[in-house]
Parts: sequence; C-alpha cells; structure tokens
Amino acid sequence: MVPRKLWRRPLDSEQIKLPKAEIHIIPDLCKGCDFCIEFCPRKALEESDKLNKRGVYPPKVADESKCTLCGFCTAICPDFAIFTTEKKEETSRNGR
Ligand code: SF4
Ligand code: SF4
Repeated sequence: MVPRKLWRRPLDSEQIKLPKAEIHIIPDLCKGCDFCIEFCPRKALEESDKLNKRGVYPPKVADESKCTLCGFCTAICPDFAIFTTEKKEETSRNGR
C-alpha cells in the first residue's frame, strides 16, 4: 500500500533560520530571453519596463523575500546577467 503522504515536516522547523537572499541583476548584460523569469521556481522575478542598452527588457526583482537562493537563475542565464547572494541578517521560517 502506498502511503498518502511521502514527506514530513521536520520537528525543529520553527527553529531553523533561513538565509535572506539578495538578487543582483546586471541589466545591460541581459539579452531578454526571460529564462530566469519563466523558470524561477518562486516567481521572484518579473520583466522590467525599462529597456537596456541591448534594446530588451531585463528582469527586475518582483519579491526578493520569495527567493530561496536556489541559484537556478544564475545557472540558466546564458549571459551571466543575474546572481544571488546571502544577506547578512537572517530570519526564521516563521518570520520571527
Ligand atoms: S535563486 Fe532561485 S528562487 Fe532566487 S531568484 Fe534565482 S531562481 Fe528564483
Ligand atoms: S536569463 Fe539572463 S539573459 Fe535571460 S532574461 Fe534572465 S538575466 Fe536576461
């Protein structure tokens, strides 16, 4: 018989501190492929309304607090135009 739920919430999840992310975008390197926007699993990015030097709309941060520092945008960007770093201060999973 297959169990209904294949995961569990860790007992100490309330004590776990999650790092805060800082998203860095270099607009003029961007070629506007939108990969980072489309494939960000947390939908932390959106298209900017300002053209860059290459004549395309680069991404901008929609909600930095959604970013989990997964690094996927950095990995998928063909032009090295986006990366994330960890902010100094930390917050817990429950926001305290
Ligand atoms: S690091 Fe991950 S969650 Fe954060 S913006 Fe990039 S793809 Fe989205
Ligand atoms: S993946 Fe890179 S080149 Fe494509 S839209 Fe995002 S920042 Fe621009």
